[in-house]
Amino acid sequence: MSEGKLEPWQWPEAQWRGIVDHVRAGRALRPASWPGGARCAVALSFDSDHDTNELRDGGESIGRMSQGQYGNRQGVPRILELLARHGVPASFFVPAVTALLYPEEQQRVVGAGHEVALHGWIHERNSVLPLQAERDLMLRSAEALERVTGQRPVGLRTPSWDYSPHTLPLIVEMGLEYDSSLMADVDCYELLLDGQPTGVVELPVEWIRDDAVYFNMNRFAALRPYTAPADVLDIFRRELEAAHREGGLFQLTMHPHVIGYRSRIWILDELIRHAKSLGGVWFATHAEVVRHVRAST
Ligand SMILES: [Zn+2]
Repeated sequence: MSEGKLEPWQWPEAQWRGIVDHVRAGRALRPASWPGGARCAVALSFDSDHDTNELRDGGESIGRMSQGQYGNRQGVPRILELLARHGVPASFFVPAVTALLYPEEQQRVVGAGHEVALHGWIHERNSVLPLQAERDLMLRSAEALERVTGQRPVGLRTPSWDYSPHTLPLIVEMGLEYDSSLMADVDCYELLLDGQPTGVVELPVEWIRDDAVYFNMNRFAALRPYTAPADVLDIFRRELEAAHREGGLFQLTMHPHVIGYRSRIWILDELIRHAKSLGGVWFATHAEVVRHVRAST
């Protein structure tokens, strides 16, 4: 029997250590101060999945794709209006297929001073892809975003919020500055590949700070997780207040086709208002946060 066929409880120590140590959090990158003497950084992000949530598994539901199109027609415009009103920048993680379906949307996002970054080709389950397919899609996605926006993306959020064994080597090969898909900390950290520092900064996400977790429902499943909008604000607000108290980073993930409804968009409005009322808050794109922590840690 080969070593790979052993059950987990039979694995020799070198095997389980090797699995754990392949990609690991390295040194923490919490800066002593944030720009302008701020005590807290707020990094808002939007994953503009739109129709790709349906397409990625081969679905052709016209109803579900119409929900995706809502993200373009209503979600993003409401978000851009709100961000402009508050004068706050954000990062938009955009699958290449979304960018090709809605190029004007991405041009509007970049034109308003926000960041557009990588989020796969068609929101594929990147963590199960063979190396050549994953590499090809990452390279094509970067080319597509650059063609549409005129700017080369410097960061990635993987569609699966997960890695294959090849993802980090591909990030290094592409020379990306950061990833925002993993969850080992509340502060930025350097990613280690087989124990070696890569220079790639991780700006961590968490399902707790993701709107889709609280609002999405599956029409045909008995279980319909649903949290009241006021309760979602309460969770996000506590995360923000603690980050402010600790002098750290508050990162949030939203989706235009999830948060961009009349009964939900106020959560973001209220959260930005609250952040401003705390004082000493630096609003920045993910790329700006990463460049600051890289320069000052
Ligand atoms: Zn996504």
